[in-house]
Amino acid sequence: MRIETLAVHAGREIDPETGAVTPSIHLSTTFERGADGEYPRGYIYARTGSPNRRSLERCIRELEGGVAAAAFSSGSAATAAVFQSLAPGDHVIAPQDAYHGTASLLREVFDRWGLERTFVDMTDLAGVREALRPNTRLIWVETPSNPLLKITDISQVSAIAHEAKALCACDNTWATPILQRPLDMGADLVVHSTTKYLGGHGDVVGGIVITRSEDGFFSRVRQVQTTYGAVPSSFDCWLLLRSIRTLHLRIRAQSENAMKVATFLSRHPKVEAVHYPGLEGHPGRNIAARQMEPFGGMVSFQPEGGQDAAMGVAARVKIFTRATSLGSAESLIEHRASIEGPGTRTPDDLLRLSIGLEHSDDLIEDLAQALG
Ligand SMILES: *Cc1c(COP(=O)(O)O)cnc(C)c1O
Repeated sequence: MRIETLAVHAGREIDPETGAVTPSIHLSTTFERGADGEYPRGYIYARTGSPNRRSLERCIRELEGGVAAAAFSSGSAATAAVFQSLAPGDHVIAPQDAYHGTASLLREVFDRWGLERTFVDMTDLAGVREALRPNTRLIWVETPSNPLLKITDISQVSAIAHEAKALCACDNTWATPILQRPLDMGADLVVHSTTKYLGGHGDVVGGIVITRSEDGFFSRVRQVQTTYGAVPSSFDCWLLLRSIRTLHLRIRAQSENAMKVATFLSRHPKVEAVHYPGLEGHPGRNIAARQMEPFGGMVSFQPEGGQDAAMGVAARVKIFTRATSLGSAESLIEHRASIEGPGTRTPDDLLRLSIGLEHSDDLIEDLAQALG
């Protein structure tokens, strides 16, 4: 089945008892045992597994082409579960421009648990190779990156990881399985913040880990999920499954809008730099065209005149909403350095746009008047 058909059907079935076409929300925290003491329907207790969560995991695993998935109550909990499945003394290579929450986990939480890490420019393959240590167990990839939209070659980095007997995990939040399927390119694990495009409506926080094989490592991720218990509610799983039915339409429309907005910005005299992998001249354009076309709904840019000018643009927009996050139907604008806080590597004149589903001309007119 093609990805559009999977988005509509994966994880769903007609309820055998009622014939209901749309799934029900199961709120029960506990499930009946048989007279023999067994659990004939496979469910015991809702932290360890529930019908809505199972449907969601099946849906996203099929979209990503994996064999199993573990859903969490946030993208950060999903990321942490991957790190928690490593052991003290293991070494992780991660991108310098990893999602700032991911970098904070490595620097501030897992440091105390004895996890070693090196941050590298993930687009420099020689540098990735140089960062390998005998105890390297994981290379973390995020492409396109946040907020500069750098593109990492997933198959090349996976090959480097595998030569070193390490795993490659790819945070696929910004691309979604509609545009990019990292497991097909050699990655071992995919991680999502389902809060973003998969949720798509700004009303659910969630995360998921998908694996290409049911190996020892994934069994530890599953154990972290069910024993630490950062699991999503049945309602959140239901909302996500509902939203994913339109994921392919949304992300393609958002990509089309983003291409138009990026093109407009790249020709505007008051814009110094635009970061969008679909633009000619973007250093990662060829890799992006091979592994993720179209190019997604995220754009960042630097207006002329430094931080004050950038703040001015953000203050003058009328259709874009000044807010963090991404992937929703409405367009958002964000001064990224100030949300990341002290020590950020993000340029202080950079504005990040999450392009939504409005008409592209309205978005362009709004930016035009804000740029002045
Ligand atoms: C938002 C985000 C996360 C964290 O997800 P939460 O659901 O906010 O915990 C991780 N990675 C990327 C790329 C993100 O955009």
